Amino acid sequence: MIKITLPDGSIKEFEKGVTPIEVAKSISEGLARNVLSAKFNDTIVESTTPLYTDGNLTLYTWNDKEGKKAFWHSSSHVMAQAIQELYPGAKLTIGPAIENGFYYDVDFGEHKISENDFKKIEDKMLEISRGKHDFNMRSVPKEEALGYYQREGNEFKVELIENLEDGTITFCDHDTFTDLCRGGHIPNTGVIKAVKLMSVAGAYWRGDETKPQLTRVYGVSFPKQKDLKEYLELLEEAKKRDHRKLGKELQLFTFSQKVGQGLPLWLPKGAALRERLENFLKNAQKKAGYEMVVTPHIGHKELYVTSGHYAKYGEDSFQPIHTPNEGEEFLLKPMNCPHHCEIYNASPWSYKDLPKRFAEFGTVYRYEQSGELHGLTRVRGFTQDDAHIFCTPDQLGDEFKKVIDLTLYVFDSLGFKDFTAQVSLRDPENKSKYIGSDDVWEKAENAIITAANEKNLNYVIEKGEAAFYGPKLDFMVKDALGRSWQLGTIQVDYNLPERFDLTYKGSDNETHRPVMIHRAPFGSMERFVAVLLENTGGNFPLWLMPEQVTILSLSEKYEKYAQKVLTLLENHEIRAVTDHRSETVGKKIREAEVNKFPYMVIVGEQEEKDGTVSVRKHGQGDIGTMPVEEFAGLLDDEIKKTLRTFEV
Ligand SMILES: [Zn+2]
Ligand SMILES: [Zn+2]
Repeated sequence: MIKITLPDGSIKEFEKGVTPIEVAKSISEGLARNVLSAKFNDTIVESTTPLYTDGNLTLYTWNDKEGKKAFWHSSSHVMAQAIQELYPGAKLTIGPAIENGFYYDVDFGEHKISENDFKKIEDKMLEISRGKHDFNMRSVPKEEALGYYQREGNEFKVELIENLEDGTITFCDHDTFTDLCRGGHIPNTGVIKAVKLMSVAGAYWRGDETKPQLTRVYGVSFPKQKDLKEYLELLEEAKKRDHRKLGKELQLFTFSQKVGQGLPLWLPKGAALRERLENFLKNAQKKAGYEMVVTPHIGHKELYVTSGHYAKYGEDSFQPIHTPNEGEEFLLKPMNCPHHCEIYNASPWSYKDLPKRFAEFGTVYRYEQSGELHGLTRVRGFTQDDAHIFCTPDQLGDEFKKVIDLTLYVFDSLGFKDFTAQVSLRDPENKSKYIGSDDVWEKAENAIITAANEKNLNYVIEKGEAAFYGPKLDFMVKDALGRSWQLGTIQVDYNLPERFDLTYKGSDNETHRPVMIHRAPFGSMERFVAVLLENTGGNFPLWLMPEQVTILSLSEKYEKYAQKVLTLLENHEIRAVTDHRSETVGKKIREAEVNKFPYMVIVGEQEEKDGTVSVRKHGQGDIGTMPVEEFAGLLDDEIKKTLRTFEV
């Protein structure tokens, strides 16, 4: 008998050779039906792999990342079989599972495939799936594996096998199909109930453009037809909310090839939005005891040699800037931290002065390959809402809690209600990787966990995920479409204080090293605005909207009254514009809806006579006629509801 420990800690005894699926059956038939994959002692196994030793077993279903991975990996085998049956002579190369689905790179030979072929391949895949074929792994000697693909005339698989060690080569069989594969499958093809090919693209063998060009076929599959339908709807919605599209429509930002790829240009409305976000955070930071600093966009090479960034951002980054005479070297600033360390070093500090909290909306430049650039989320120049806190080791816990408070305030004010956190700790098995003593690490890790508990965060602990210089806490927010974004990292750092020889005088009159905390609730202004756009679809919280109200006059006779309404609203610090064009009011309303004005007010004869406005709310329609003052009060209330004041 062997002892199997389940994730809840319960231990069950089974005959030697029990399979994960049989273990699932012993728990419930329902679970057994849903098991897609399993992990035994940190190794992914087939759900049909016999187990011969005691160990920990985790069973995965569609609800787990690992379950989806097995599902999509297995689906790529099914797609490969379908392709081979439909296009004799097509050569398969590699076909992994990816974040949403799977792909296979195929040399189609003389065949050309396009979207018109998708239906045919999908139908074939479903036909294979309905056969409920088991996936069976087997070990193959290298000679035999090579022989198999040499007979098939598939030079790609031959090349892959040549690079493998004998004794490590495994094949996976299902139905009449065989593929070179390391494993990780669902029990059989029968659970694949819905498939959709998404796109085809060119891809070079091994990503090398001197090598043959292949066709990459992307697909996705699901255990239920309903899941596929929901997925496609989500994609459609995501397309509508693409921040690059919305950024253009709302005139927030643009890019110019002349200025350079990955260097966003903020248009007036976008700049005003940024300014509002910055002021919002500045106000809260002021209350939380931060002091603003300003540092230059470049720094001397020595600064980055000291910080260690010179080694990291060397050859694969923007190259140094040289001065004409002195032979000096400067770097475009990739990080604000070294500059802030030198600000700390500009004065002597006593323990009574700490913590010092230096904040800056600091613009940094990092080289990204052009293929990696993406709207505002992957850029070459961006502005971090950066701050560095320098404190005594005893203050670390308190400072951490304060940063969590500030981050939660930001999320709350901007409508991010659904988030989780991750605490990244040292790998306890490999302590030599990290700088700083055991004692110091334990203290910091405990401080973070205590802070996370006290603030009631929903968090997971990941051992081994900490940077070599300190533990950290990351926030993951879920947007309206259920996608996760990482925002707001709080990072403890023992490295830079050491490298920059930062000190303070303790109560014992001795010199001590402060601890440094890096934090940026937004991350960067660019990425945050992108996430905000995709989360809200451009319907920002009212306090943040570039223009909150548009005043539509029924005809030019009422322009003067419209102007008076505008002034009244502006007196209440409401951002409004007038639309006096000689268009029908119906057309003006439709356009105002497209431009996402939160409120439209219509003014005509009756309104002028009564001193009122007729109000329409975006996405809701008519909400009635009211005096201008009352309307201003309505907006004020709405703003106060989302934008609370930050309490320290
Ligand atoms: Zn496989
Ligand atoms: Zn930093």
